[in-house]
Amino acid sequence: MELKIQDLCKSYGKKKALWKFTTEFENGIYGILGPNGAGKSTLLNILTDNLLRDSGSVLYDGEEILNLGASYREIMGYMPQQQQLYDTFTVTHFISYMGTLKGMKSRDIQRRMDELLPLLNLQKVRKKKLKELSGGMKQRVLLLQALLNDPKFLILDEPTAGLDPKERIRIRNLISDLSEDRIVLIATHVVSDIEFISKEILLMKNGRLVDQDSPENLQKRI
Ligand code: ADP
Ligand code: ADP
Repeated sequence: MELKIQDLCKSYGKKKALWKFTTEFENGIYGILGPNGAGKSTLLNILTDNLLRDSGSVLYDGEEILNLGASYREIMGYMPQQQQLYDTFTVTHFISYMGTLKGMKSRDIQRRMDELLPLLNLQKVRKKKLKELSGGMKQRVLLLQALLNDPKFLILDEPTAGLDPKERIRIRNLISDLSEDRIVLIATHVVSDIEFISKEILLMKNGRLVDQDSPENLQKRI
């Protein structure tokens, strides 16, 4: 599968948060690096259908995602940054809830949850409330809900934010195992999260894509 982004623009008043952003993704891991204010959240919010673009197109295998409607939910998985919003939910309650929002049947949610809980080493804490979990566990729960529908397009926003080095490496290894047969997009400002596992790295600044290449080639140029 492939994703083609063409001339994507989004402004807030006079501020160009995203400007003529154009790129292509095929299966594999892509890292997006950029300082605060570069436009990463704006891009991710548009790709997750949480924000309306001003102009430009996003084509999934040739089909504009805005025209895919509800079936885009079946293709896309999103791991957001941590929020306190669902802190009183238990792990299984939260995951079921997220699955329902994706339009999944409860039987399928249950089946995938049984597969993924041990894979992400969350079996023992499944009955615990989110607020009782460590940061690393919480991140793994967020990753799990993003994987529920076995998405072909997986979007991860700062997947290692606030984690200690050990948990960071753990999450990175989990992500690198996911890359076959899907597009994985990781926004981060931690270079080590993506430099060894990405096929390509995109560098963003001031709402623009300033470079995109393999980590090796970027290294040579910088
Ligand atoms: P990043 O995620 O890389 O930090 P953002 O996409 O959050 O970048 O922001 C890009 C630019 O757009 C920044 O200058 C930011 O202040 C601005 N911006 C983002 N969201 C809004 C908003 N809702 N209203 C006004 N300005 C915004
Ligand atoms: P990130 O940590 O991903 O860079 P930010 O903390 O910059 O995210 O922004 C968090 C949220 O606040 C985003 O949804 C963004 O759209 C919004 N935002 C960012 N900058 C502004 C701004 N200047 N005015 C209003 N909202 C903003």
